[in-house]
Amino acid sequence: MALNLILMGLPGAGKGTQAQFIVDKYQIPHISTGDMFREAISKGTPLGLKAKSFTDNGNLVPDEVTNGIVRERLSKDDTQPGFLLDGYPRTLEQADALAGMTNELGKPLSAVINIDVDPKILTDRLTARFICKNCGATYNKLYHMPKVSGTCDICGHHEFYQRDDDKPEAVKTRLKVNVKMNTPLIAYYKDRDLLFNVNGDQDINKVWQDVDKILSTL
Ligand SMILES: [Zn+2]
Repeated sequence: MALNLILMGLPGAGKGTQAQFIVDKYQIPHISTGDMFREAISKGTPLGLKAKSFTDNGNLVPDEVTNGIVRERLSKDDTQPGFLLDGYPRTLEQADALAGMTNELGKPLSAVINIDVDPKILTDRLTARFICKNCGATYNKLYHMPKVSGTCDICGHHEFYQRDDDKPEAVKTRLKVNVKMNTPLIAYYKDRDLLFNVNGDQDINKVWQDVDKILSTL
């Protein structure tokens, strides 16, 4: 049986790590929207060129173009044993389009794995990074503090800062946008009995054990 998967999870939930574990063990291609766009554009496929005409002008690529690029990618032979979609679908319209094309291609979805972590915990994770003002060494409040409190391990300076992206307000906004995007999709796949929630607030290896247990029963 082919493993035709979607991987979901909020920023900081550890989706990238689990994606790597999945493709390594099950030898299926990791299909992320960003990579797909880059490939279609670099190979100059008709849809790639179309996508480029939108991004070059600073516009969002319309659904029909994105769906077309996904369809092109899923038509390739390397998806025979399965595929892992990451970053797609983002909307219910895309989810419907995906259902149509996977059925047409004879590659219906097997499961949607959602790495589930409370946004409050994600806020703590995503705001934990801080940087030495002098040398740029990176630290993390949760798992990599300077050996001597308030003193950079590398250069001995005492001033640190946070990147704008790591500041609480930016992180909260990013999470809010993603919760808003994911919530209807999670309901959509739950309704279709395809959704598997995995507790992402555990050790990375324990999360993987839970994911692997689900995949081995599909
Ligand atoms: Zn330093």
